[in-house]
Amino acid sequence: MFYVASTEFKSWQQALATAITDPNVLWQLLQLPADQLPAAERAVATFRLKVTHSYCARMKRGDWHDPLLRQVLPLGEELAQVDGYHADPLAEQSFHSIMPQSTGILQKYAKRVLLISTGTCAVHCRYCFRRHFPYHQAQLNAPLWENALTILRDNTQIEEVILSGGDPLILSDNKLRQWMEQLAHIPHLKRVRFHTRLPIVLPLRINAALLDWISQTRLTVIMVIHANHANEFNSEVYEKLADLRMAKVQLLNQAVLLRGVNDQLQAQVELSEALIAGGVLPYYLHLLDKVSGAAHFDVPKAQALQLHRQLQSQLSGYLVPKLVEEIPGQPAKTWVF
Ligand code: SF4
Repeated sequence: MFYVASTEFKSWQQALATAITDPNVLWQLLQLPADQLPAAERAVATFRLKVTHSYCARMKRGDWHDPLLRQVLPLGEELAQVDGYHADPLAEQSFHSIMPQSTGILQKYAKRVLLISTGTCAVHCRYCFRRHFPYHQAQLNAPLWENALTILRDNTQIEEVILSGGDPLILSDNKLRQWMEQLAHIPHLKRVRFHTRLPIVLPLRINAALLDWISQTRLTVIMVIHANHANEFNSEVYEKLADLRMAKVQLLNQAVLLRGVNDQLQAQVELSEALIAGGVLPYYLHLLDKVSGAAHFDVPKAQALQLHRQLQSQLSGYLVPKLVEEIPGQPAKTWVF
């Protein structure tokens, strides 16, 4: 079996539609150990496998410990019940929802509103803190979008809209163009922030239509790209990041500190260097949100602090991301020190 190269696809939608969702296919493509397959099949019954060909092509065949593979690899460990790990580790479904029930409109922080724009992603990251999120209740369908606009118009304190998900860039360019136009008509809004992995895992998505609606808006557009390892960057990713920069998008990165992926000093140094080479500022390094099924990724806080101190001694200050954790109920991310 072979990867399908980006150049073979007619569109990003076609590339997305052919993402790998069957563990058997992933195992054959990457020549993974057959004895690990049954556990993977049990794990995907709770959280589906999904990975694009583009992302898969950056993994090393036969390497069970490949840092990109680990991020999407279903493992039997996910099924263990571990104390302190919960389905909704940030209490989003109860604590932060502005609306009476989970509706995808969350206000975690002052002056900012977060909209769960879609439940769909191009990859399923096994550490995702929303892996159990009830997206079916919380996607922004037309009535909820109208609700969101009303909330945004009425609350003149709000300056920034954060589009999260799922991955907001999964939505069509027509819809995103329309949303951006409607948001731009709300005078007190200044910025729209997209939290997206698509520039990394499906770079084809950064196409002419997307760059067009971005360059039309009066709002400052920020993209937080969620890269976790230097191996995620290749020439195609760098080309697309350059296109985004040309369209005046401000690029930031938010990584998660993951055992077996990027918990070594060298990996963090290389990640910061890969980011800045693409014009992306390393912004946050997050401790793992303790979501059920992801305990095997945890890096203890003391180890994270030590790693962060070492990073400070190796890199210029602007290349050192802030080490943070999210604590439900806190008005901002909490710095770890
Ligand atoms: S929401 Fe983000 S972290 Fe979660 S699965 Fe989708 S792309 Fe991965």
